[in-house]
Amino acid sequence: MNDASSSLDYLPPPACIGILGAGQLGKMLVHAAQTMGYQTLVLDPDAQAPAAQSSQESLQFEYDDPKGIEQLALKAARVTTEFENVPALTLQLLSEKIPVRPSAYAVSVAQDRIVEKNMIRSSQLHTAPFHVIQHPSDIETTPHDLFPGILKTARLGYDGKGQVAVNHLDELRLAYANMNAATKSSTAVDHISCVLEKKLPLLAEYSVIVARNELNEMVTLPIQCNHHINGILHLTTVFEHALDLKLEQELTQAAKTIAQNLSYIGVLCVEFFILQNSNAGAMSPSWVVNEIAPRPHNSGHHSLDSCDVSQFELQLRTLCGLPLTAPRQHSPCVMLNLLGDLWFKSGTQQTLEPAWEQLLALPGTHLHLYGKTTPRRGRKMGHLNITGRHPNEVMSTLGKCLDILRLPPISNSPFANSSTHDH
Ligand code: ADP
Ligand code: MG
Repeated sequence: MNDASSSLDYLPPPACIGILGAGQLGKMLVHAAQTMGYQTLVLDPDAQAPAAQSSQESLQFEYDDPKGIEQLALKAARVTTEFENVPALTLQLLSEKIPVRPSAYAVSVAQDRIVEKNMIRSSQLHTAPFHVIQHPSDIETTPHDLFPGILKTARLGYDGKGQVAVNHLDELRLAYANMNAATKSSTAVDHISCVLEKKLPLLAEYSVIVARNELNEMVTLPIQCNHHINGILHLTTVFEHALDLKLEQELTQAAKTIAQNLSYIGVLCVEFFILQNSNAGAMSPSWVVNEIAPRPHNSGHHSLDSCDVSQFELQLRTLCGLPLTAPRQHSPCVMLNLLGDLWFKSGTQQTLEPAWEQLLALPGTHLHLYGKTTPRRGRKMGHLNITGRHPNEVMSTLGKCLDILRLPPISNSPFANSSTHDH
C-alpha cells in the first residue's frame, strides 16, 4: 500500500494543516497553528462547530464521505485529528495521499476499550480487572470478584457516557440488555461489545500528556491531578511536587512506554487511577492505567496559561516536523471546566450568561470560551485557567471563582480525588 506517511520532514508555514473535527480541541489547535503562520482547514459535519468559526477554511462533510476526504487531501499538506472517533478508515485513506499523524492504527486502538486494555497489558502495565462481554452468554462467565463493577461500552463512550454501575449479575444482565436496546434502534449490530470493569477504590486520578516525534524524541507536560464529578472532568490541578516523585516518574515512564509501543506520533494523553490499597497484598498494583486519548486532552488545557509550550503547540510541532523542546511550567495552575449547567438560572430552563466580569476581576484568571451557541447541562462550553505564584494563592482564587459561579467549594484536599463520582 502506498503510504505517504513514512517520514515527516520539516513543513514550513504557511502550509495548510488539515484537522478532522472542529470541536474545541480543533479550535485551540487552529489558534496555535495560526500563531505560527500556518493555514488551517477543518472538516466537521457541523458547520457551527467551534473550530469552523476560527479556521481560514472549513469543509462540511460526514467523516466517511469520500468527497470530504478528497478535498482535505488536496488542500492540506498534513492531517491530524482532534476527534477520537473519526473512522480509522478515513485516516487510513488519507494517509495513502498525505501524511497523517497520529496513525490510523494508534487512533483505532484508543477507539476500542478492549483493544486498548489488551495493548496496555501487553506493555506490561496494569489495568483495572475486566471481563469482555460481546454476547449475553458472556455474562454467565463473569468472575464474581468484578462486582461492584462498571459496565462500559467498548466504543464511543466519553465523559462517563456509555457507563452503568452494576452490583451483581442481575443488574449486569439488565444493563447489558438496555445498552443493546438503545444501540439497536440506531445500528444493525445485534450485540454490542462491552467491558465489565471492577470498580476500584480511587485515591486520586492523574494524567500524563506526552508528545513524541519520528525520532522517538519525547517530551511531557507536568503531571496533572484530575477531579471528576459524575464521570466528567471538573477540575485539574497542576502543582509541582504534589505527587510523590517516584510515583510521578513511574506514571511519566508508563505514558512514554505506551507512546513508544504504539509508534505514536503526536500528542497522547494517558489517564491513571491511583488506588487506595493500603490493605491490599504486596502484589497488588498501587496504580493502573485507565485509558488513553490519541489527541490533546481536557486535562492539558492548563498548559495554555501555565507552561511555555501548550499541548496544542506540541501537537503542531509533531505534525510539522518542528523540534520538540521540553515544556516548562512557569505557574502553578488550576483548570476549571465550564459546563453548560452554569448558563441555567438555578432550577429553571431560563439561560443567562455567567458573571465573567467578576471572575476576570481576580488576578490570574484566564477565560477560554469555545463559542458553542447552545448551552446544555453537562456540555463543555469552556474552561477557566487560574494561575498564581503559589498553589495556595491559586486555590484561594479558585474558591472565589467557585463562589461567583455558585459551584460547591472543593471540600477535601485538592491533591486527592473528591470521590464524588457516581454512575
Ligand atoms: P470516559 O471515556 O468517559 O472518560 P472513563 O473510563 O475514563 O471514561 O471513566 C470516567 C470516570 O469514571 C473516570 O475518570 C473515573 O472517575 C470513573 N471510573 C471509571 N472507571 C472506573 C473504575 N474502574 N473504578 C472507579 N472509578 C472509575
Ligand atoms: Mg476518561
